[in-house]
Amino acid sequence: MPMFDFHCSQCANDFEQLVRASTVPTCPQCGSTTVDKTLSRIAPAGKIEAIRISNRKAADAQGHFNHYTPGERAKLLKGKRV
Ligand SMILES: [Zn+2]
Repeated sequence: MPMFDFHCSQCANDFEQLVRASTVPTCPQCGSTTVDKTLSRIAPAGKIEAIRISNRKAADAQGHFNHYTPGERAKLLKGKRV
């Protein structure tokens, strides 16, 4: 279940809520359903890069290239000359 940040347009309260596809988010402070989903939960770029690198390392260890683009894959396979 994804967790989202919301901003209540009734009382200006910011809150997080776990939301299923069928649930309508409600403000825990005033109970209003007039809330906006905010996009503040973006991981810092450095962290994303670190995750990407560790995923690639894991993929390398397993001998596949799922985390590479087709172009990068071709380059790698060329370099290996198996
Ligand atoms: Zn509210």
